[in-house]
This record gives sequence, C-alpha cells and structure tokens, in this order.
Amino acid sequence: MKKILGTSLLLLNLAVFGQSQEDSIQFAKISTEILNNGKGYTELRDLTKNIGHRLSGSEAYEKSVKWAEQKLRNAGADKVWLQEVMIPVWVRGKESLQIQTSNGKWKSLKMLSLGNSEGTGGKDVSGEIIMVKSMEDYDKLSADQVKDKIVFFNYPFSQSYIETFKGYSDAAKYRTTAASLTAKKGGKFAIIRSLSSAFDNVPHTGAMRYSDDKKIPAVAIGNTTADELAELLQSQKVTAKLNSNCGMKGEKLSHSVIGEITGKKDKSVIVVGGHLDSWDVGEGAHDDGAGIVQSIEVLRTFKKLGIKNNHTIRVVCFANEENGVKGGVQYGKTAKENNEEHLFAIETDAGGFTPRGISLEMDDEKRRQIQSWAKLFLPYGVYDFTGTYSGTDLYPLHDMGVPTAELVPDSQRYFDIHHTEEDTFEKVNRRELLLGASTLTQIIYMIDKNW
Ligand SMILES: [Zn+2]
Repeated sequence: MKKILGTSLLLLNLAVFGQSQEDSIQFAKISTEILNNGKGYTELRDLTKNIGHRLSGSEAYEKSVKWAEQKLRNAGADKVWLQEVMIPVWVRGKESLQIQTSNGKWKSLKMLSLGNSEGTGGKDVSGEIIMVKSMEDYDKLSADQVKDKIVFFNYPFSQSYIETFKGYSDAAKYRTTAASLTAKKGGKFAIIRSLSSAFDNVPHTGAMRYSDDKKIPAVAIGNTTADELAELLQSQKVTAKLNSNCGMKGEKLSHSVIGEITGKKDKSVIVVGGHLDSWDVGEGAHDDGAGIVQSIEVLRTFKKLGIKNNHTIRVVCFANEENGVKGGVQYGKTAKENNEEHLFAIETDAGGFTPRGISLEMDDEKRRQIQSWAKLFLPYGVYDFTGTYSGTDLYPLHDMGVPTAELVPDSQRYFDIHHTEEDTFEKVNRRELLLGASTLTQIIYMIDKNW
C-alpha cells in the first residue's frame, strides 16, 4: 500500500513538475519575445507624442480611437470593433488663481481646476481664504465662518504608506467632496492640496463630483505651493481670486475600442484592458497609455508565438475612465445583454512601472489557484498576489460575478506624476513597461490554459 501510494505520488509529482516545466518554458518564451520584440514602447511614443493627452469628449480622444483600432489590427486581432458609449463632455478652458497678501500685491499660483468642476464663467470670484487641515477641522466650522470664504483643504498625502495607493485613497475624499462641502456652508470655492506624493509645485487634477445642485468651483495646487500658502496664512489674511471657464458641456456619443483573438475551444472571454482616455494635461503616458499598449502587446504576443488560446482573448480600451467610467459601465451592460460568459478580466491602470504582482478580486478558491502559480512568476520579480482589488473599469463585470484583477506595478513614483502635466512618455522606461506586458501575457496564458 505504502509503495503504491509512493509510486502514485511520484507519478503525480512528475506530472505536476512536467506541467510547471512546460509553463516555465512558455513564460520564458513570452518574456523573451516581449523584451526583444515588444512594440509597446514605440507605440506609446506614437500615442503620447502624436496624439497627446486625450480627455474623453475631445478631438484627441477620437483620434486615439482610430489609433487603437489600427494597432489592434496590426497586432493580429481576428475582430476589432468600436463599442458605442455616451460620455460626459467636460472642458477646461482658461483658468487662473491669484492670491493677495497684506502688501497688496497679487501673485499667481500654479493650479488646475479639478475635473468635472464648474468654473467662474470667466468672471473673477474672490474672497478671504480659510484653511482647514482635515475633514474634522472643517466640520467644526459654522456656516457663518465659511460664508463667502474660500476654503483651503490642506490635507497632506500620507508619506507613511509603502503602497502609495493607500495614501491616494486616504486623501481622495478631499478631491471628490471639497466643492460640495464648501458650498453647503456658503463658501465661494474650494482649493485643495494635490493628491501628490511629490515635493514640488505641480498641481494634480482628477475627478470631483457634486452632491447637490450648488455647483461651485474646486481647484488643486501643488504641495510646495500649499505649504507656502499655509505659512502665509499663519501671519496674515490672504485673499484668493479665481477666474475659470471650465464646465460640463453636455454629452456626446463616443467609443471604447475592442479587439480579440477567437478561442479555439469555446466563446468564453478573457479580458485584458486599460483606459484609452486620459486627463487633459501631460500626455497620459503612465495613466493609462501604458496600460493600453501593454494590453495590445498581450494580443500581439499570443499571435506571434502561435499560442493556441482555448478561450477568446479580448483587449478592451475603455472610454471615459477618468471622468465618468461610462466605458466600463457600458462594457458590463453589453456583456450582460449578449449573455457573454466572461472567465476572467484584468486591468492595467497603475502606471507602466516594474510589475510586482497581481491583485485578485475573486472567490477564495480561484484566488488560491492563481496564488499556487506564484513560483512561475518569481523569476520575473513578480511575487505579490495578496491584493484584493481590481481595476475601476472592471467593477461592472465584478458585480456580475466575474473574477477580476489588476496588474500591480511598483507604485513609488506613480503619485508624483498622476493626473499632471508631468505624466509624459519620457517618464516611462521601456523595460519596465514591457515587463508589465509580459506579466499580463503570462497570467492570461495560465488562465486560458487552466480555466
Ligand atoms: Zn487611470
């Protein structure tokens, strides 16, 4: 009995070993192909330099739709199509923020209106600045104290978290709610300290929203600008004057771009994607041009290496992640209407930095299965399978019960440049970007083979 058990265990071990050896070989082929022949970096240069930033609703976004369609065809997709989606149109226009101190002189501050914010309609709006350091501070102020004032929410991005996304989430409520909170107590507009890990004066935009009809402006200033303003406020009254033209300009029909290679065995779908839109400053290189070219690279690599995929592998370039998530919502809705079975979906929207892991939002059994593949990823520096979140565009799929995931790159530099004029192609490293594409291709190879 002991001997039989021993023999069968040995056979089982050999089978598992043989299996994982085959997978190791395939992983190496994928990595070697992408690092040597990957097109993602040059494609990112093309997207960022020839089209540039591409807020949904803009002409540049429409150009990027055509661009993505072409790139998916070039990569060897069997089918490429556009998915219609109604998106909000927000336009920045001209904007300026000035402060006046006790010497009477006006000084311009580097600023950005927050995305989705209404402006001042091209008129000057001014008032005395009052500073709060936290929500708790703000809650203590009476409506009388806030009326006609400019509220400066000087809440710092925490430097303590090693996972910088935690610092970002922690500070995010200031960006989303500052305007409505200020309006509720009769303030004229809100200034926030940027959701930024950098020690510089670069303002970071990003989505805000109104919780009621009182729509006053909200703007962001960089960290050193915020520190200087805070110091001034210690010793004197400071007046701020805002003049801006931004605002919502209705809705528009636009598109997400989808391309796939059909499954050999069945029609169930594995999604890999990122968002094609970006904010209207910088070049949308890390956020999320990187994710787009990495996703296309996955498809290209499957074709190039002649990997026969069992299931359909679909690249989705989502529209409007930044200021509405309408592309993600529409994708989920359409998948449901068409009764499409989705096996797995992964998004890459955390920057094109060195991959460190994959975050898994799914039931324990599936999580454990993916975690059991961790050894295969280790030679590529990918070790962290502990995260439990997934990409914003994927939440509709997740709500339908689809196991979802997100690529986890090194996050130390992402929030220095996120949603700023600094998010440019030059900040992306070719090897780091392509290693991310390699990790995505490897995980999709495993899912396709085993699920
Ligand atoms: Zn993004």
